[in-house]
Amino acid sequence: MLVSTKDMLIKAKEGKYAVANFCIWNVEMLSGVMEACEELKSPVILSFGSGFLQNTDINHFIHMMRSYATTTALPASIHWDHGRSFDIVSHAIDIGYNSLMIDGSAYPFEENIRMTKEVVDKFKPMGIPIEAELGHVGAETNYEEALANYGYTDPSQAAEFVERTGADSLAIAIGNQHGAYSAPPQINFDILQKVYESVEVPLVLHGASGISDEDVRKAIGMGITKVNIHTELCEAAMIAINANAGRPVHYLALNQEVRAEVKKRAMEKIMLFGSNGKAEGWFEK
Ligand SMILES: [Zn+2]
Repeated sequence: MLVSTKDMLIKAKEGKYAVANFCIWNVEMLSGVMEACEELKSPVILSFGSGFLQNTDINHFIHMMRSYATTTALPASIHWDHGRSFDIVSHAIDIGYNSLMIDGSAYPFEENIRMTKEVVDKFKPMGIPIEAELGHVGAETNYEEALANYGYTDPSQAAEFVERTGADSLAIAIGNQHGAYSAPPQINFDILQKVYESVEVPLVLHGASGISDEDVRKAIGMGITKVNIHTELCEAAMIAINANAGRPVHYLALNQEVRAEVKKRAMEKIMLFGSNGKAEGWFEK
């Protein structure tokens, strides 16, 4: 059943667990993730963003995402990830998303605030929760080089940013990076602690694929309530594909194996994030 991401994250903050934001862009990923959530009774955020538009025509795929999210008995939301302009997130709402991220993190502080506030002012009155990003989580690149010039979230700006924008949740940059890590991730828990202490809104960790289970658990214990996973779902799919490389496998069978690997990985993440069982009793008065 479609619910607000905001409600999901507030409950997660109270319960000291995190909801998985599964970034998915095809049917195997979507169905594998949903099977995992159904089996473990987990709330779920189904997410898609501009980075996938070369693979998937979202004007069609949104109908499948909505179909899963509206017919499941689990709390579910459909979230546009990393919207980098007002027009992009407006389109997402037009076609059926009920949750947005506006990402002005590549811009200076004041411009990030302006972009975020514009989206909040327009869509928050419609009941759409808005995630924003402070600091900048970069794209996949050499991790050690990226760290040398990393855009950490400035904890002293967090309260002002949330207050002036009205954002409902905040993605933070604490050494995390999108894609695969070329060296072990170095998560700055000191920044996480300071941001957590300075804002009320739930905190979001992007680029979590490849961060050790221990560090993910620690980050959730320190206030992360939404964790984005994409690369590890792709890696799981590739396990099935590589296992069949060179064999005369039928695509129908391969497709099922990909879905099964995605499901398995999604279940591991749900258990790690502690959202298993959290869908139970959700809609009871
Ligand atoms: Zn991200």
